[in-house]
Amino acid sequence: MSKAFLLNTHDLPRRAGEMKEYQLAIEFDKPIGIDVIAVPAGTLNLDLRLESVAEGILATGEFEAVAEGECIRCLDPIALTLNRNFQELYAYEPNRDDPDELEEDQLLMDGEVMNLEAPIRDAIVLALPINPVCDEDCEGLCPECGQKWAELPAGHAHEQVDSRWSALKGLLQEEN
Ligand SMILES: [Zn+2]
Ligand SMILES: [Zn+2]
Repeated sequence: MSKAFLLNTHDLPRRAGEMKEYQLAIEFDKPIGIDVIAVPAGTLNLDLRLESVAEGILATGEFEAVAEGECIRCLDPIALTLNRNFQELYAYEPNRDDPDELEEDQLLMDGEVMNLEAPIRDAIVLALPINPVCDEDCEGLCPECGQKWAELPAGHAHEQVDSRWSALKGLLQEEN
C-alpha cells in the first residue's frame, strides 16, 4: 500500500457538522488503471472536502487526471482526460449491525488517518475504456503489412494480389 494516499485528518474537529477543505498533491509511484490504458505515475491534484458526521467522516473529492494508452486498433498513443469525483463515508467503526456492510469495500478511519487510494483508484478505473480507440472510426492496421488503413490507398490489398499471382504462375507452369 502506498503511503501517498494517506491523509491525517487531525485538523478536522470530530463534531458532526464540522467541515474542512483540502487541496492535495498526491505523488504516486505506480500507474493507476488497466493494462491497455492507465494514469502514469506522477502527481494527482485532489480537491477534497471532509465533513464530520455522526458515524465518521464524509469525503467528497474531485480531480482531473490524464490516462495514457494505445489505440487497440492502430496502436497510436491515446491521452484521455478524466474529470472525476467521488463521495465516500469513512466510518470510525465497522458497522456491525449490518453484516452486509462488513465487506472489504467499507472504508474505515485508521485513527485520524484516512486512505484515499480506493476511491481514487475506483474513480479512475471505472472511467477507463476496456478497448480504447483513438477514434470510434479508427480503421486500424492492414493485418498483412501493418500500415494504417487510413494512410493506405483505396483498394490496398495483399492476399488478392498474391492469389492472382499464384494462379498466373500456375498457368505459366502448365504451359511450359
Ligand atoms: Zn486508432
Ligand atoms: Zn497492407
